[in-house]
Amino acid sequence: MSEGHSEHAPSGADSWMVCHGYINATRGLPDKTTIYAAEGTCAHTIHETCLLLGCDPDIFLGRKMSADGFDFEVKPEWIRALQPGIDRVREFAGKMFVEYRVDTTRWVGLDRKGRRQGGTLDTGIVGKKLIVIKDLKFGAGVPVSPKRNRQMMIYALGFWDNVARHLTDATNFLLIVDQPRCAGGGGEWECTLEELLEFGEEVKAAAEATRDPNAPRTASEKGCYFCPAAKTGCDEYDRFQLDIISQQFDDLDAELDDKPDLPRRLTPERRSYVVRHASMFTKWLQQLHTDCLADALAGDPTPGLKAVTGRKGDRRWIDPTVAEGFLLKRLSREKAFTSKLISAPQAENLLSTKDWGAAKKLITQDDGKPMLVPDTDEREAITPTADLFDDLDDVGETSDLLG
Ligand code: SF4
Repeated sequence: MSEGHSEHAPSGADSWMVCHGYINATRGLPDKTTIYAAEGTCAHTIHETCLLLGCDPDIFLGRKMSADGFDFEVKPEWIRALQPGIDRVREFAGKMFVEYRVDTTRWVGLDRKGRRQGGTLDTGIVGKKLIVIKDLKFGAGVPVSPKRNRQMMIYALGFWDNVARHLTDATNFLLIVDQPRCAGGGGEWECTLEELLEFGEEVKAAAEATRDPNAPRTASEKGCYFCPAAKTGCDEYDRFQLDIISQQFDDLDAELDDKPDLPRRLTPERRSYVVRHASMFTKWLQQLHTDCLADALAGDPTPGLKAVTGRKGDRRWIDPTVAEGFLLKRLSREKAFTSKLISAPQAENLLSTKDWGAAKKLITQDDGKPMLVPDTDEREAITPTADLFDDLDDVGETSDLLG
C-alpha cells in the first residue's frame, strides 16, 4: 500500500472530500511529477534519515541526490530550512514512528479493486499525554495551515487507529505542518480524539459518495488546484472560473440588500472574492492559453485567435569554447568576459553555516511590502493607519482627562 496507489489518499482529501466526482474524473489520468515534488522527496529523505539515525541535516551538505529523474545538490539553504523542524520533533517525549505507512481503510474503505488504502505519515509520536503528527511540506508556493487540515486529520485518525491507541490512553493531538520555506505556511494545531472521530464520520460519508459512478463534481480552490482533471478539461472547474469572471455573487450580495446606498459596481465582497481566487484563476487562464495554442497548431477551431511565430529567442554562442577562442584573439580578456558579485541568496548556498552567519552582517534587506493573504493566515494583520490615529486620539482624550 502506498499513498500513490490509494484512490482516497490523505494528500488528495481536499479534492475527493469536497468533489465527490474527483476520483472518477482523475482515474487513469497522468499525474506528472514536478521538480518541486522531486525536491520535496529528497528533503523528506534527509528528514527521515536524521530522525532515524539521530544526526543533523548538515551531514548531507553538498551531497548529490536524485528523485523522479531530477538531480539536486544539497545546499546550505536546505539544511537551514530542515533543522528547526527536526529539532521541534525531538522536543517531544514518546515513541517515534518515521515515514510510517498509515492504513486508513477503517474510514475510507477499500479501493475499487478491493485493496486497503492509506498513506505515508512523515512523523508520528506517541506520548503518555499527547500524540504528535508531523508533516513536512518543502514547497514554497502554496501555504498550508494545520488547522482542520483534512490530510493531517486523516493521518491522525489512521495513526491513532493503527498504532497510538495500543500504546497510550492519550486523546490529545498536536498536528504540525512544517513548511519552512513558505511565508505564512505551516504551524501547529491542537485537537482531541473526539474532534477527529467526528471528522472521521465526514470522511466515511465523503468516501462513500465518491463511489457513485455519477458522483457530482464540485469545484473549490483547494480541491481543484492540484487536480489532474483541471488540466485535461473539467466543466465544473471551468464554470467555477467563469462565475468569478461573470461575478455571480448572489450569496455574497444577499447581505448587502439592506445597504441600498452602497455602489453596486464592484462591492468590497465581490472584489475580495476575485482577489482571493486570483492564483487559481491565473492558473486556469494559463491552461486555457496552452489548450488554445495546441488547438491552433493542430488546425482545430480557435475563433478570433491564430498561432504565429513569436519573437526570436536571445542570440547565444553555439559553442562557447570556440567563441571564447575567437573573441580572445580580437579582444582583451577584460572586454571578452564580464564578472559580477554573486547575490546574497547565492552566497547563502555557497558559504558554510559559520561563514554565512558572518556574512549576514553585510546584508541589508528592505521591509516587506504590504500584501493580501486570506484572513485565516497566522500572521498579524497590519493596523490600518486610520486606526493608529484613533488610538492617538484616545491617548489624547485620556491625557486630557488626566490633565
Ligand atoms: S477540477 Fe475540480 S471540479 Fe473538476 S474533478 Fe477536479 S476537483 Fe472536481
